[in-house]
Amino acid sequence: MTTPQVAIIGAGIAGLACAHALRQHGIESIIYEKSRGPGGRISSKRTDNSSVDLGAQYFTARDPGFAALALQAEQAGALARWEPNLAMIDDAGIQASPDTQTRWVGAPRMGAFAHYLARDLRIEPATRIGEHRSLTELRAQFTSVVIATPADQARALLPDLKVPAQAPCWAVWIDIDRDQPFDAAFVKTGPLRWIANDASKPGRATRRRWVLHATPSWSDTNLELSAEQVLLKLTEAAGGLLPNAFRVEDGHAHRWRYARPWDDQTAMADACIDAGDHLWVAGDYCMGGRVEGAWLSGVAAAQRIMR
Ligand code: FAD
Ligand code: NAD
Repeated sequence: MTTPQVAIIGAGIAGLACAHALRQHGIESIIYEKSRGPGGRISSKRTDNSSVDLGAQYFTARDPGFAALALQAEQAGALARWEPNLAMIDDAGIQASPDTQTRWVGAPRMGAFAHYLARDLRIEPATRIGEHRSLTELRAQFTSVVIATPADQARALLPDLKVPAQAPCWAVWIDIDRDQPFDAAFVKTGPLRWIANDASKPGRATRRRWVLHATPSWSDTNLELSAEQVLLKLTEAAGGLLPNAFRVEDGHAHRWRYARPWDDQTAMADACIDAGDHLWVAGDYCMGGRVEGAWLSGVAAAQRIMR
């Protein structure tokens, strides 16, 4: 195996994209990841009987290169098209909100897409840079280093870095006993922003497993509540939105401390950051806080390295 020249910190979509783009040009890299596997905010959470997409729910692909990758992943069986019966809920009530957007989901769970991207890459799991190895060590060992973590974690490694703080998101899943008239809804009122029946996505084993995402402001205000309290409060909020009264059979809450930009329109001036001396910083927050943005930012970092 060729000796890696580039170290990448973080095996989320940005880090995986960077490693891929480098590989296509014959440059080997090694990705250091603090968790047990790849995916970051696109990974799925295991539950007793199955799994659930608690982070990214789906993604869209508007860039031609990213759209081509999505088609390849679909052919490999790692991605599928999700065609939910969509609603929009605001103070006026529930309205059907169909559209023609192609929404991609990992199959049979969101994390499958990250595993597909990671299949030929060198990843060192359970290795937190700043704890198990230092950034200084990596910079001494490798020709280039890419920090591909959420913005706040990048700032923990490089305190002078100018990056926007990211908003948190409390996410809940609940198994319920009643069918509902829609599969997912964009919510414009109250503590929730998004609700979706995970089971309506292709290949899922469960039947009525709803995912509830709180707004950035509700998540921030209630950041230190216990998972049990959040589960109760957000389930109650969902009870006010889902038309058919339900009983909860099982559920759990998860806190994403660094989930998204505070404002969906936020994007930085450049697709990645040149931190000097062959150190690069990439991540979704450079390109608007979506899966596609993370991919494009990682590819941009690889292109700068190759220049
Ligand atoms: P991450 O996925 O966060 O990857 C960074 C990686 O770095 C992580 O694996 C982390 O463990 C690792 N790491 C951090 N610090 C260190 C360290 N010191 N050493 C080693 N490793 C480290 N996007 C969409 O397009 N559609 C959606 O529907 C959608 N919904 C979302 C819902 C939620 C609740 C959340 C949280 C996000 C959602 N997003 C969505 C956003 C999307 O998930 C992200 O934009 C994208 O996954 C970010 O990828 P990334 O590689 O930039 O960062
Ligand atoms: P998209 O095109 O489906 O959605 C973009 C935005 O347009 C949505 O947030 C929604 O407000 C609106 N929208 C889209 N279709 C709609 C419809 N049929 N009816 C009513 N409103 C509709 O997807 P995208 O641009 O790829 O964005 C990805 C999604 O990821 C966004 O919804 C974003 O809010 C979400 N996200 C969530 C988090 C989190 O922490 N919860 C983090 C990052 C991104």
